[in-house]
Order: sequence, then C-alpha cells, then structure tokens
Amino acid sequence: MWNILGEGPLTNGVPQPAPRPEANLPLAEVFEDDGALAWQERALCAQTDPEAFFPEKGGSTREAKKVCISCEVRAECLEYALAHDERFGIWGGLSERERRKLKRRAM
Ligand code: SF4
Repeated sequence: MWNILGEGPLTNGVPQPAPRPEANLPLAEVFEDDGALAWQERALCAQTDPEAFFPEKGGSTREAKKVCISCEVRAECLEYALAHDERFGIWGGLSERERRKLKRRAM
C-alpha cells in the first residue's frame, strides 16, 4: 500500500522513505555522477534553442557549432559524448560523423 501523501509505501502503517533511483547506485557512483556532470550547468546550449543541436538528417549544424565555439565546457562535453557513445546531435562542437572519425583516429 502506498502513502497518498507522497512518501513511500506504508509498512505496518508507518510511512517509509520515498524510493530514490540513486539509492540503487553505489555511493561512490552517485558522487561521481554529480561531479562528472557538473559541467552541464555551464553549458552554453542550455541558453539557446536545443533543436539546433539535434537537427533533422541533412539539416544544418552551423548554428549549433557556432555556439559550441564560445562554450567554456566544450572539452568536457566532447569527452562525455565520446565516453558515452552519444549517437545523435552536436556535442563539443562536433557532429556524430565527426565524433566517429575522431574516435577512429584515436584508435
Ligand atoms: S560544447 Fe556545445 S553542445 Fe557542448 S555544452 Fe557547450 S554548447 Fe552545448
């Protein structure tokens, strides 16, 4: 039975803490994710049109790349995209094709 006040399930009538997805992760991983993704708070694209970063196939990537040039977390963004094999969109100023090329060259 769930507590309708927004907390977790009731056990013997006592509300339990609400489930948290991060509770299933090892503690070190939770802290690592917080730190590893802190750069996203400074992402310049967060202040612009997000659709420019995920153009339709064959669409222009020029506007997104122009924003990336001025972004102070460009290196972190690209590193993240390469590490997580991001397949779509502009990350760190590079398209998916450009990231694939970069990865091949690094091998
Ligand atoms: S480099 Fe480009 S895609 Fe990455 S956070 Fe900056 S603006 Fe966004």
